Amino acid sequence: MERVLTCAHCQRRINRRDDLVVALVFFSIVPYHTGCYARALRGCQSAVIGNEPINGVGFTVAAVIGTLTAIWVSVEFSVFMGIIFLLPAGIRLYSLYTIERAIE
Ligand SMILES: [Zn+2]
Repeated sequence: MERVLTCAHCQRRINRRDDLVVALVFFSIVPYHTGCYARALRGCQSAVIGNEPINGVGFTVAAVIGTLTAIWVSVEFSVFMGIIFLLPAGIRLYSLYTIERAIE
């Protein structure tokens, strides 16, 4: 089954993975074209769009650091505190499986 990804800004189809930016808007994960993401960031939507793309390098690094911190906090303090630091990794994986996987 083929899933079609449509850009949240221009409503057109996103065909290529290198033209895909996954952004956090409020508490949902939204796909954009690379150019549309830049336009949306500059426009009036910038207040609600996350500055760091979820499928970007910065967010991936944050997810890795968060996971390491989660392990450390779980061992040193409590598992419940550690879970909070797993949030970036959770969002990263969610984006990978629900959005980025739709494009080869
Ligand atoms: Zn677009």
